[in-house]
Amino acid sequence: MTEELFGKTAHELSSLLKKREISSVEIVESVYSRIGAVEDKIKAFVSISREQALEAARKADAKLKSGENTDPLCGIPVAIKDNMCTKGVTTTCSSKILANYLPPYDATVVAKLKELGAPSTGKTNLDEFAMGSSTENSGFHTTRNPWNIETVPGGSSGGSAAAVASGESIAALGSDTGGSIRQPASFCGVVGLKPTYGRVSRYGLVAFASSLDQIGPITKDVTDAALLMNAIAGYDAKDSTSVNAPVPDYRNVLVGNAKRFRIGIISDLMGKGIDEEVKIAVRDAAKQLEKLGAIVEEVSLPTLEYAVPAYYIIAPAEASSNLARYDGVKFGRRSKDAPDLITMYYNTRREGFGSEVKRRIMIGTYALSAGYYDAYYLKALKVRTLIKQDFEKAFTRFDVLISPTAPSPAFRIGEKVSDPIAMYLSDIATIPVNLAGLPAISLPCGFSHGLPIGLQMIGEAFSEEKLLQLAYTYEQNTDWHKRKPELKGG
Ligand code: GLN
Repeated sequence: MTEELFGKTAHELSSLLKKREISSVEIVESVYSRIGAVEDKIKAFVSISREQALEAARKADAKLKSGENTDPLCGIPVAIKDNMCTKGVTTTCSSKILANYLPPYDATVVAKLKELGAPSTGKTNLDEFAMGSSTENSGFHTTRNPWNIETVPGGSSGGSAAAVASGESIAALGSDTGGSIRQPASFCGVVGLKPTYGRVSRYGLVAFASSLDQIGPITKDVTDAALLMNAIAGYDAKDSTSVNAPVPDYRNVLVGNAKRFRIGIISDLMGKGIDEEVKIAVRDAAKQLEKLGAIVEEVSLPTLEYAVPAYYIIAPAEASSNLARYDGVKFGRRSKDAPDLITMYYNTRREGFGSEVKRRIMIGTYALSAGYYDAYYLKALKVRTLIKQDFEKAFTRFDVLISPTAPSPAFRIGEKVSDPIAMYLSDIATIPVNLAGLPAISLPCGFSHGLPIGLQMIGEAFSEEKLLQLAYTYEQNTDWHKRKPELKGG
């Protein structure tokens, strides 16, 4: 039985734990045996913390045994994207510049999971500093998509999504600045939720673009996403952008009911540049939702066309400022043998950062410089406001908007590395959501040539409940999430 545990969801395991049919140590052992069998192929992790995880599992078992009222995640192992600080465990952002960085504190989300008794099994791979859509920008290695190891798992949270899809983790945390939870979830056939900006604390999340970054769950199904949201959502005095608003119990919304839902299918994301099979899968999903009682109509958000260009000014501008701290003095790597301080700065950054990170720092610095600030940065902020207004208008007519999560299924490793614009366009449907600060979920809605397709549902700010309810209803009436990649060990 132990060998099978890695294939189960958190909520299934939780009920087995509560009935005392299994132990947390057994789950953790099962997950590590799976990692032992397939990690050589998948390469989802940057580091693995077996001893700490087993220690946490033993504590969780004691807690469960004591009869104490425990959280459903007590004893459930979770993998953490390697851009969230973990005390005493390296947090690299998959960058050479932070390869040996040991944070002195836990990110709030990490502390919350620890407190509930969820063992952290390891840190997952990402595009360096979360800049990318394929994990090919990792400073260490590329993660493989469990559905076809010749293809990318998406990014930047590709390690988290691949780990969940391959059974190397029961659930995982990712971060999403322009699609980094949803696009890899879509490519790997799992569920990914980007919460409303301010819903989850960013304290201890290494900053990429602070006005866009948000942490969220990557899970095997919608119920698990709700369980993780219950664990991580909420106000945190340590993050000045976290919002002090009550957090509902997200499990309560898991009822199969799509009636009264007015759904807008975003026509601007169903045309040029989107794969035919992806469009068919999304239209089929819309029909299915209609059958379940929802009303579906087309809606146009004409400013979405400008989202990618605006994002590629705003995100690099913020990144260029956030990444200024990696100068070889306070954090991480310092270049040796420089004759003076300025040369040491130059050498550290030249050796420590990869080419995509350097590209973003240069674009961002340029966009913020005197003389160009108004023409680029300010203009991009105006576009951002227009996009927000387009969404606000749409939400006067609809409860939820739907679209493909990504224009295509997973692409082949190497296919887009030399064409940054093609890579950037893979986030065309996800980026607008971050610019508007809204919540969105991606869930499996079909397959093309054996590769999963993701359906995106977008809601108004703080409407995660609605998204989870609609997603759950869809999931209950489809089988896509039950398919597993046929990945054999060895
Ligand atoms: N792919 C986008 C980028 O490279 C989004 C990344 C993210 O959400 N972290 O910026």
